[in-house]
Amino acid sequence: MKNKQQVSILGAGLVGSLLAVLFQKRGYTVQIFERRSDMRLASMSAGKSINLAMSMRGWAGLQKAGLEEDIRSIAIPMYGRELHQANGENIFQAYGKNNEAIYSVSRGELNKN
Ligand SMILES: Cc1cc2nc3c(=O)[nH]c(=O)nc-3n(C[C@H](O)[C@H](O)[C@H](O)COP(=O)(O)OP(=O)(O)OC[C@H]3O[C@@H](n4cnc5c(N)ncnc54)[C@H](O)[C@@H]3O)c2cc1C
Repeated sequence: MKNKQQVSILGAGLVGSLLAVLFQKRGYTVQIFERRSDMRLASMSAGKSINLAMSMRGWAGLQKAGLEEDIRSIAIPMYGRELHQANGENIFQAYGKNNEAIYSVSRGELNKN
């Protein structure tokens, strides 16, 4: 059933976009105000152009929004980092003890979804 209450969200970044989806799922009418142009239509500005590293908290949010599967298809697992030593050697440092990973995701694609 449609909830008569309206919600206004300022900023369609990662938090605002997710919040909008969650409110809408609960039947609220959502209005988002974003100062940048609609990134689904416009070419992306450089902005925070590096990929986002996403962990369990991010996946939990996307799961609630029903977007987990879509984003899994574009996420790249990162199992650890390579530390370059002064003596020229490299040391691999795992992020988890049981082959866990954090996931690299394009901010633009995440926002557009
Ligand atoms: C360089 C960098 C790297 C990061 N890397 C990671 C990472 O790897 N993993 C991670 O979990 N977090 C990372 N973070 C943190 C993460 O980016 C933030 O936690 C997240 O973007 C916050 O989301 P947000 O929606 O609150 O803000 P934002 O994503 O910044 O979105 C805010 C939105 O509000 C809009 N806006 C602002 N003012 C107005 C206004 N007056 N009117 C209308 N619209 C407005 C902006 O245009 C923007 O779209 C990183 C941050 C930076 C700066």
